[in-house]
Amino acid sequence: MQTHNLGYPRIGSKRELKKACENYWSGKISLAELKLKGREICLQNWKLQQDAGIDLIPVNDFSYYDQVLDMSLMVGAIPQRYHQILENHGKEELDLYFAMARGYQKEGLDITAMEMTKWFDTNYHYIVPEFNKNQSFKLFSTKIIDEFADAKQQGIKAKPVILGPVSYLLLGKEKEEGFDKLDLIKNLLPVYIDILDKLSKYGVEWIQFDEPFLAMDLGEKAQQAFKAAYYEIKKKFPSLKTIITTYFESLRDNLQLATSLPVCALHIDLVRCPEQLEETLSALPENMTLSLGVVDGRNIWKNDFQKSLQFINKATEKLGEASVMVAPSCSLLHSPCDLDLETNEKNLSKEIKNWLAFAKQKLDEVVILKKLATENVSGKLSTQYLENKGAIENRKKSLLIHNDKVIKRMNAITDSMAKRENTFPVRKIKQQNSLQLPIFPTTTIGSFPQTPEVRSWRAKFKKGELTATEYEAKLKKETEESIRWQEEIGIDVLVHGEFERNDMVEYFGEQLKGFAFTKNGWVQSYGSRCVKPPIIYGDIERLSPMTVEWSSFAQSLTQQYVKGMLTGPVTILQWSFVRNDQPRSQTCNQIALAIRDEVSDLEQAGIQIIQIDEPAIREGLPLRKADRENYLKWAINAFRLASSGVKDATQIHTHMCYSEFNDIINHIAAMDADVITIECSRSQMELLDAFAEFNYPNEIGPGVYDIHSPRVPSKKEMVELLKKAAKVIPAENLWVNPDCGLKTRHWEETKKALEEMVAASAEMKAAFLAKDDQTVV
Ligand code: GLN
Ligand code: ZN
Repeated sequence: MQTHNLGYPRIGSKRELKKACENYWSGKISLAELKLKGREICLQNWKLQQDAGIDLIPVNDFSYYDQVLDMSLMVGAIPQRYHQILENHGKEELDLYFAMARGYQKEGLDITAMEMTKWFDTNYHYIVPEFNKNQSFKLFSTKIIDEFADAKQQGIKAKPVILGPVSYLLLGKEKEEGFDKLDLIKNLLPVYIDILDKLSKYGVEWIQFDEPFLAMDLGEKAQQAFKAAYYEIKKKFPSLKTIITTYFESLRDNLQLATSLPVCALHIDLVRCPEQLEETLSALPENMTLSLGVVDGRNIWKNDFQKSLQFINKATEKLGEASVMVAPSCSLLHSPCDLDLETNEKNLSKEIKNWLAFAKQKLDEVVILKKLATENVSGKLSTQYLENKGAIENRKKSLLIHNDKVIKRMNAITDSMAKRENTFPVRKIKQQNSLQLPIFPTTTIGSFPQTPEVRSWRAKFKKGELTATEYEAKLKKETEESIRWQEEIGIDVLVHGEFERNDMVEYFGEQLKGFAFTKNGWVQSYGSRCVKPPIIYGDIERLSPMTVEWSSFAQSLTQQYVKGMLTGPVTILQWSFVRNDQPRSQTCNQIALAIRDEVSDLEQAGIQIIQIDEPAIREGLPLRKADRENYLKWAINAFRLASSGVKDATQIHTHMCYSEFNDIINHIAAMDADVITIECSRSQMELLDAFAEFNYPNEIGPGVYDIHSPRVPSKKEMVELLKKAAKVIPAENLWVNPDCGLKTRHWEETKKALEEMVAASAEMKAAFLAKDDQTVV
């Protein structure tokens, strides 16, 4: 039995790589210094895994930005627009690489970055490969070979990790019409062969091909591509030990395909999909090793040794010890680095800490599991086993987790709680009568710029350098200024600005019972950006109102409406580490009840418009089509549970910022928010087509400007977009707003852009009122 790891976090336990990259980008350190840091992290990670006792240690899992971009550079899939950087400016490979990731605005060049998108259903984002019809590939970057050689020289038993050719192609995007990216496999394979050839010369024994698509819905062509690729590799390298890894889903209908590929080992995710063990065992050919992903690479809970040992024993009984490998379920890239760094008991009590394992601890778990499964002496008497059992039992019974009050409320949920009093047409009239908003009303999505100053107050407050009263006074002043300014430029529905919030999930988590926090639990989101998800460990209860004070304060300053601003239950769930001892749907409903109470309290306090943000609803969509309806059913219901406890005249908004609503538009409509604001400007309103085709009944605010860039859009552009929108959506259903919150922008551009936006709305208002037939097109 061997242990192995699929990948280790590369950002560094203190985010060293993040800092080094950012310092390099801003010119504070040299390329040589950056590379030194990168290598230091590699060495540390290898050593750490070696010391932990992992048998096969991944290399090439390190990346300066993203492992998919690494692949594009490796196989020379470098879009034409970047060629001039190398040709004319004599840049290093890594500069080209960062240009592809981040764009390049220097030396008179202005080259856009490559697109970025989510890595399956994680919060990690990869750089999307770009393919052309006659795409050719050639070995360009030798990073994998260099890293392998380096590791080998350090005495590391290294297993290079490479994104498999089929998954690499499937992750990419065709940049022109008239071809299928899978057709490129024949051009791509020779580069893989070239790489394997070079690795073989360095004496590679094992190699890991990540093929997550093998666990997704696959077409015929993709299945053929899998066969073609791995037969070719086997033919060229008959004695190479190849392992194909799948994760985040189960093999299901691809089981026959997966077990028929000529590879030495197959890795399956038994944390997400424990049910696939049985059938995989029966389908596995005699000469194939099964790698059991038993330690959760996506969540922070301690492994349940008893459960994992059952899996391992079942596999060894069937296959024999030599044909079983033990591993985390997926790359540990998605786990925070090291639980030992969490020493602040106020954030994370000793009891809760004892239930957790981060990447470093997960390595130990993998090694202990092998030991327990293979040692003759009864493992069940070892201290490690008993300690683990104690922790698992303590968690099951802990008073911290179970809250009878919450359970009672959960049991009392009725269908009618997820329904507004009346349907939208009735509500619309009541809302119109009570709110008296103009046509093409203007609003923003919630947050205003979080200046370094605002952030410094929060830091000082946390360190105790500002008292609560001082901190609050500063925030109040900032809020008041923003209200005054919104009044001045003539925005119709105001927001308080969210200056008091660090993060839209953390802010609520900190006020809810059942949440814990880490100090260093960072996980890479994209490039140098990391997130620190809160941990939902127990039943969720709202102890007191969370936003009412700020909203009421803001509302007290003005005669105009100020929107209440909440984060929705699905988004809070999605952006946290979630408990694994009950279904996600149940946890989501607990959050929904807490938000529902907050909505009621806001209404009681006189807030007549309340926004519940759900930017994460779509990313929670299961990877397999067959599972989607079920998810959407409970997710949409949780939103409705949170939002339906108000009077008809209270206007509920929701906000989402992603594209592609086409396939879920009926569910978006089923959320039954009175108003939905969405990101739209980057697609030039194309997104609205889904709403138009569906005849979306409620009101919509299609974002009229992209907030991701400091560029100030002109009134003219926004009028154009609004006209486009008014062609497909009735004018009386349209709102005017930016794509998303303005937290990351500066005030200077924000002010200019919103003034232009208000002017654009005014032009639309005037045009609308001037026309007898009331069409603006
Ligand atoms: N209300 C939030 C904000 O304005 C919404 C953020 C989001 O959609 N991600 O920042
Ligand atoms: Zn948004």
